Amino acid sequence: MDLKTEQPVISIIVPIYNEEEIIPELYERLQNAALKISENYELIFVNDGSRDNSLFELIKLTEKDHRVYYINFSRNFGHQIAVTAGLDASKGDCVAIIDGDLQDPPEVIPELHSKYKEGYEVVYAKRKKRKGESVFKLVTAKLFYRILKRITSVDIPVDTGDFRLIDRKVVDYLKQMPEKNKFLRGQIAWLGFNQTEVLFNRDKRKYGKTGYSISKMFRFAMDGITSFSDKPLQFVTKLGFFFSMVSFIIILYAFYSHFILGNTITGWTSLIISTMFIGGIQLISIGVIGAYVSRINTNIMDRPLYIIEKSNLPKK
Ligand code: UDP
Ligand code: MG
Repeated sequence: MDLKTEQPVISIIVPIYNEEEIIPELYERLQNAALKISENYELIFVNDGSRDNSLFELIKLTEKDHRVYYINFSRNFGHQIAVTAGLDASKGDCVAIIDGDLQDPPEVIPELHSKYKEGYEVVYAKRKKRKGESVFKLVTAKLFYRILKRITSVDIPVDTGDFRLIDRKVVDYLKQMPEKNKFLRGQIAWLGFNQTEVLFNRDKRKYGKTGYSISKMFRFAMDGITSFSDKPLQFVTKLGFFFSMVSFIIILYAFYSHFILGNTITGWTSLIISTMFIGGIQLISIGVIGAYVSRINTNIMDRPLYIIEKSNLPKK
C-alpha cells in the first residue's frame, strides 16, 4: 500500500523556531503518538526562519520517514502564520496543532483524537498547570484571556493555546478567513461547531528559550483584541464624552467664580496638569484607532501571508 497517495487519517502541524536540540525527541514522541491513532499520518514541520540548525534536523527526518514534510519560510513570519502554512498544506481527515518545544506533550494527541471520534469537531487542550513559566508571563496571560473574554462576543476558551485537534471541515473554513493578522484560537472559536476540552499539564521548556518576545506577545494580544472586538473604539468615544462633560462643568464653574463671586481662578499648575492629562488621553485614543487602521492597511496591501523558500511537499 502506498501511504502517500491516500488521504492521511491525521495531520500534525508543528511550528519550529530555533528548536534544533529538541527535534529528534520531538519526532520520536510525535511519531509514537501518531502511531496510536494510525499508521497513515503526516507530520508537517514549518520552519519559521530559525537561525540555528533546525532546518537541517528537519530534512534529516524526511530522509527517515516519508510521512514527514517540512516547509521552510524565507524568514521569520511568526508562530500564527507558521501554523497557517501548515494548515494550508495539510491533507488529513483531522489536524492537530502542537508547539514544537514539547511544552505541549504529544502523548495528549491520542486523547484529543478519541474525543474527536466521539463527534466533536474541535477538541482543544486546556492547561491545568503551567510549569516553568515566568511570573510575568503567567500574570499577563491570565489577565489577557480574562480581558478578552469580557470584551469579545465570541466565546474564546481561557487558558488555552493553539494545542488542539480540529476536523477537516474546520480547516477548510479557516482557509476562507483571509485576514492577515491571525489569531487562530479566536477564529476557531468564532467558527463554532461542537467544541470540547481535554485538560493537561503544560511542561516547561527543556531546551532553548521562548520565541515570543514581549513585543511579539503584545502584537499577538492586539491582533486578538482588534480582530474580535471594537470595544476599545467604543471605550475611547465614551472617554471623549465623559471628559467633555467634566470640562464643561469646570468651565461653568470658572465663569461663575469670575463673574459672580468675583475671584478668578489662577494657577499655572492646574492649567498644565489638565492640558497634559487631556493630551495623554488623546494620544492613547489615537493609538487605539491607529491599531485598527494599521490592520486595515495590512489587509488592503494583500501581500502573500508567507514566503516558502523550499519544502518537500508534493506539487499540487
Ligand atoms: N514559534 C514560531 N515562530 C516564532 C516564535 C515561536 O514558529 O516567531 C514556535 C516555537 O518554535 C514553538 C511555538 O511556536 O514551537 C511556541 O513558541 P514558544 O514556545 O516560543 O512560545 P511560548 O511557549 O513561550 O509561549
Ligand atoms: Mg513554548
